[in-house]
Amino acid sequence: MQIGAHVSISGSIDKAVDNALERECTAFQIFTRSPRSWHAKDLNDIEVKSFKEKLQVSKIDRFATVAHMPYLPNLSSPDKSTHKKSVDTMIKEVKRCRILGIPYLVAHLGSHMGTGEDNAVKRLVDAFTTVVDSEKDVIVLLENTAGQKNSVGSDFEQLASIFFQLKPAKRFGICLDTCHAFAAGYDLREEGDVIKTLDKFDDVIGFERLKILHLNDSKGELGCNVDRHEHIGLGKIGEKGLSKVIKIMNEKKIPIVLETPIDDKRDDFGNLKKARELA
Ligand SMILES: [Zn+2]
Ligand SMILES: [Zn+2]
Repeated sequence: MQIGAHVSISGSIDKAVDNALERECTAFQIFTRSPRSWHAKDLNDIEVKSFKEKLQVSKIDRFATVAHMPYLPNLSSPDKSTHKKSVDTMIKEVKRCRILGIPYLVAHLGSHMGTGEDNAVKRLVDAFTTVVDSEKDVIVLLENTAGQKNSVGSDFEQLASIFFQLKPAKRFGICLDTCHAFAAGYDLREEGDVIKTLDKFDDVIGFERLKILHLNDSKGELGCNVDRHEHIGLGKIGEKGLSKVIKIMNEKKIPIVLETPIDDKRDDFGNLKKARELA
């Protein structure tokens, strides 16, 4: 099974591999730079070399590593300058992924800021097309959202309608987040619910498009449209459902990455331990 966590690059980017190995991860996710600013320092050559060497000697498959876009870009933004700045930031991110040898970059679909979904979809398709034209070696993964106000991409049909407009198709994939799906109204509490929800995903989008699964429990109730991750099994989804999700992902050989909180209750070690038990 390929399972791991979002790990810190604090200190230097190669520390991410140390952090992943310390947690016995067989998959991991990073931000390639601070997610909370527009500006990113260039990658340091020595750190990049060290990152790649450490990954090479580890047993972690390169195709179980993924980077996540920073938080500020909004690829659906109706504001021309914000949209351009967002696309430019994402172009820099795919280049950073290529330099690091990371095959996937997860992107949120952003907020249309009240201008309607149809316009946002056009802006997204433009943005993603420009990004993949700029860099051939990285696959962009669209992540489903929790359905917060004005957000794009919470229901599978809408995600599919965007996804299937993107060309070339092989340059794109999906990252499915269990907390976001549950918050968007897709039940995952019982084994039967998980099967129903994932069958729906398979019908509308297709498992072959799913490259990474974000395994998170949810602080909010089914359909709450709130994006708040909870420790594995301690949220409103619970152990039964998450266990079934893990088993299906393992069958389909889809890498699992946890983005669970770190607090007094539990840290990554505890959540990974729990996830491995549920497998
Ligand atoms: Zn996620
Ligand atoms: Zn989230």
